[in-house]
Amino acid sequence: MDENSILIVGSIALDTIKTPFGEKKEILGGSAVYAGLSASFYKKNVNLLGVVGSDFPQKHIKFLESYGINTEGIEKQQGKTFRWDGYYEYDMNQAHTVKTKLNVLATFNPKLLPRHKACKYVFLANFDPDLQLEVLSQLKDPKIVAVDTMDYWIKNKRKSLHKIVKAADVILMNDSEIRQFMETPNIPIAARRLIELGAKSVIVKKGEHGALFFTESTHFSAPSYPQEFFRDPTGAGDSFAGGFIGYLAKTGDLSQENFKKSIIIGSVMASFNVEDFSVERLKTLKHKEIVKRFEMIRRFSEFEPLSISNWM
Ligand code: AMP
Repeated sequence: MDENSILIVGSIALDTIKTPFGEKKEILGGSAVYAGLSASFYKKNVNLLGVVGSDFPQKHIKFLESYGINTEGIEKQQGKTFRWDGYYEYDMNQAHTVKTKLNVLATFNPKLLPRHKACKYVFLANFDPDLQLEVLSQLKDPKIVAVDTMDYWIKNKRKSLHKIVKAADVILMNDSEIRQFMETPNIPIAARRLIELGAKSVIVKKGEHGALFFTESTHFSAPSYPQEFFRDPTGAGDSFAGGFIGYLAKTGDLSQENFKKSIIIGSVMASFNVEDFSVERLKTLKHKEIVKRFEMIRRFSEFEPLSISNWM
């Protein structure tokens, strides 16, 4: 097995979504699906761990496999697949949940095969932090563990999240989540508090406005991409995380500079993902489009030093 192999654990879903640009029912979604597909652009044999019900269309599994994703860790249980029903208004940074039906996810207890335990790059997408801890305890010797969460767990499992914060290498949260978790409206202060609690690094996703990266001694601001095609933001955070971990694993370079590049790759993947519903845009995405958009974002943030030395 490749020593930079990737493990992604999270939800596999059938989503019903309404945005100002349309409505789709029972489409392929889930945090692990978006992250896994996005990571598969960088590494073959991304390992997906999750659960589906007996109603989950086999064609979706075949589709994931067609991207070289290893689906041995997708457990099939009697019952219904996890469903999320949500909508967005014109501020598409804010998802509104209509209904969450955990179904088989409610009793999911991730069982890691030896190939999963040996993975070096791990993304624990949004799900119960106690289960995230359970997965973490089974990993042999990971190089990077990145963890995402959401408001639901911040409200209901704060203590477990504190343990996760200490154990992970990268905490990913969106701006409203980190404000809620650290109880301050100020993002740099919230990130500092998280680092004081033991986080090694923090990525704050700001939807269409880019992302921020904090460690104890550094700060990096990833610019936004001026998104003109925007149909459905579902999965933006997870495709960001998939691209981020995928690029880190592909390069095997854990320097600060490469973290920055990986964050931009994450932004690029998210920016493509939101161009259509479900994973439709990722289906047609080409590597050369990724390279082109990366370069555009890089140029947006370039500027020269001040040229005046004397103010008077
Ligand atoms: P995001 O990247 O945050 O937009 O993630 C979107 C995906 O998260 C959707 O496809 C949903 O199926 C999934 N999702 C929504 N709520 C939950 C939840 N409570 N636990 C796990 N996954 C969820």
